[in-house]
Amino acid sequence: MEAGIVGLPNVGKSTLFNALTQAGIASENYPFCTIEPNVGVVPVPDPRLATIETHIPTQKVIPAALRLVDIAGLVRGASEGEGLGNKFLSHIRSVDAILHVVRCFDDPDIAHVEGSVDPIRDIETIDMELMLADMASVDSAMEKAVRAARTGDKEAKLRVSVLEACKARLDAEQPIRGVTFDQPDAMKTLRGLSLLTAKPVLYVANVDEDDLAGDNAYVQKVRERAEREGGLVVPVCAKIESELAELDEADRDELLESVGLTEPALHALARAAYKLLGLQSYFTAGPKEVRAWTVPIGATAPQAAGVIHSDFERGFIRAEVYSVADLEAHKNEKAIREAGKLRIEGKDYVVSDGDVCHFLFNV
Ligand code: GDP
Repeated sequence: MEAGIVGLPNVGKSTLFNALTQAGIASENYPFCTIEPNVGVVPVPDPRLATIETHIPTQKVIPAALRLVDIAGLVRGASEGEGLGNKFLSHIRSVDAILHVVRCFDDPDIAHVEGSVDPIRDIETIDMELMLADMASVDSAMEKAVRAARTGDKEAKLRVSVLEACKARLDAEQPIRGVTFDQPDAMKTLRGLSLLTAKPVLYVANVDEDDLAGDNAYVQKVRERAEREGGLVVPVCAKIESELAELDEADRDELLESVGLTEPALHALARAAYKLLGLQSYFTAGPKEVRAWTVPIGATAPQAAGVIHSDFERGFIRAEVYSVADLEAHKNEKAIREAGKLRIEGKDYVVSDGDVCHFLFNV
């Protein structure tokens, strides 16, 4: 799962990115993630991993990972090459979701690029740049699709109609997210176009220490907007998060408690990202490794196995499955088996959140 952090300059993006990625995880466990300076891999917190480890002693515990890409340089005019410009927009083409950081704190010492604190105007400024970039992508994709459709290519015909719907939204100054289609497969075609404003958005409302509940008037406005467009809002104080990231666990708990927080922002952000993207976790567990894997809700057992390795999906035979709750009740796999709770599932099985799976496959 990959998310791109966007926002105007000086709203707290780097503070948040650094705080989140400081608690970063060993990249050798994630061989498919290349790490660049603006990319961080953060663990998705999941207390069920500790529960599994209690009953299945193991050499290492590997949480699911969220890859964060910090997209700096997005300013008014970026789509026309202002600031760091268009080059940076290309970094968000591949992400699954956008974390849009908006300034929801007053601080006379921190200048605002637009002269005042106004999260809705800021959201619209960034959205406008992303929409302009999409407009250019849609126009060039349309030319190609129209040409291909003339040769009778069915897929290209669908692409033309998807692009027309996108164009209509952009012409109305609306982001593409929220667009609906009657044709089956249209959403898949839309995803294939990697348009920036088609991606789901999570607004990160950067608030001050004394607004941690996220009830201030700025956050309320962001919340209203997110509700309208099916997005989500997570209030975060980037400043406190950066202090938390510097501390060891005991001091961290003390600071959290003193500001009235129950958990670091990463937990709430990860939960919101899962919800926004319709994701869930399943586990693999053994003496070498206990590990969480991210899959879309509705994934079948072979698709879930494919997240580990594409060979597992191709050669899938069956899965042995139990739940974390079964493990808690029976304490070990042998007892789960004896109690008749170990299920043998075939290729049509739809994986549930919290399943512990053991896959059997041909190579
Ligand atoms: P970016 O340009 O969006 O990456 O913003 P930075 O992370 O560099 O933050 C800009 C300035 O705002 C820095 O001086 C931060 O210390 C400050 N800042 C970030 N978050 C907060 C916050 O929650 N409250 C206050 N008062 N200042 C913050």
